[in-house]
Amino acid sequence: MSTPVRSTSAPPPHFPDARGRYGAFGGRYVPETLVPALDRLQAGVERHLHSADFQAQFRHELETWVGRPTALSFAPTLSKRWGAEVWLKREDLAHTGAHKINNAVGQTLLAKRLGAKRIIAETGAGQHGVASAAAAARLGMPCVVYMGAVDVERQAPNVGRMQLMGATVVPVRGGDQTLRAAIDEALRDWVSDPDGTYYSLGSAVGPHPYPYLVRELQSVIGREARAQMLKAAGALPDVAVACVGGGSNAIGLFHPFLDDAGVRLLGVEAGGRGPGLGDNAASLTAGTPGVLQGSYTLILQDAFGQVRETHSVSAGLDYSGVGPEHAYLHTSGRVTYESATDEEALDALGECARHEGILVAIETAHAFAGARRFARAHPGSRILIGCSGRGDKDMSILQRTVLGAGG
Ligand SMILES: *Cc1c(COP(=O)(O)O)cnc(C)c1O
Repeated sequence: MSTPVRSTSAPPPHFPDARGRYGAFGGRYVPETLVPALDRLQAGVERHLHSADFQAQFRHELETWVGRPTALSFAPTLSKRWGAEVWLKREDLAHTGAHKINNAVGQTLLAKRLGAKRIIAETGAGQHGVASAAAAARLGMPCVVYMGAVDVERQAPNVGRMQLMGATVVPVRGGDQTLRAAIDEALRDWVSDPDGTYYSLGSAVGPHPYPYLVRELQSVIGREARAQMLKAAGALPDVAVACVGGGSNAIGLFHPFLDDAGVRLLGVEAGGRGPGLGDNAASLTAGTPGVLQGSYTLILQDAFGQVRETHSVSAGLDYSGVGPEHAYLHTSGRVTYESATDEEALDALGECARHEGILVAIETAHAFAGARRFARAHPGSRILIGCSGRGDKDMSILQRTVLGAGG
């Protein structure tokens, strides 16, 4: 267990530093063969990402194809039930049903500028694969998606969606045959052709510059939400809450609020079946420092440093690491991280669906469970929830759980 040192007096510095560090975390722990590809990517990010031209093109795709800005919805019934003022930032309304499209379209635009001829991506539950396939189809690039063989079986509808949009889905049979193995395989592909291939990584994880790149692309969520709150609620929220898997929707929501000292930030991880190692995916609240997939961060590992399998009812949170910026924000105390169990998340999902007419993703439901807990402890507070995605993809699990006997 790590013991966070809490000091919230000064606003956080604007990380990462030149070596891709967020305090002690982040960096680039990769085999030498990957260094030239990452150097080239970093130079491309520095040259293009904040250029007026790239930003105009990105904004155009977000507005005319993704459906941005996404709505900010007041939640009247949850507000009454929780004794709070509850607002929802609706990434579930974005094209392909979640925030992941913001990152996928941004990275695909970057790939074109860097002269890449094909996009590769990894996917766990299939959401980043679907977003990547859609962005690649839209921008006229071939797309290969690596997916653990176990996940190909579990997520058949998403495999079909990717294929319909012209992507090739490659089942990965090595390693744990899930997300971690898929990332390793995508990195191997990239090394073999770093000029012609662009690796579009799906969360704010991995070696520098990915955590930075993904944060910058996803920060559109928090920038919009901040302006929408000022307009619709007349004030900033007392707290912004988001679920944390790799951490991309959470960092996208939180980052524009980091300098607002009055806005608390709450990240909610997957508490799974409970606190035992292997029973959850709570890398921040239960993990220890170590290296995973190119980044020094907080990870779920045993006493020998072996990365452990995780459990969560939500495939999108089921990962043994977390983005390095979250590890830093946890240690600095600027963001509070908690976990919600499978059961709490499914209960919150049912409550939101029944009372607000919004079926959120099971990942997202963890944020609702955390927000509900916050409301009970802080009556009357103004709460902004990052509604990262919609739950249609989860129907088979929801049939067995929420709709099942007594659920
Ligand atoms: C993938 C996914 C997540 C988790 O990923 P982050 O990078 O932590 O945001 C959360 N919610 C939804 C709906 C997802 O599809």
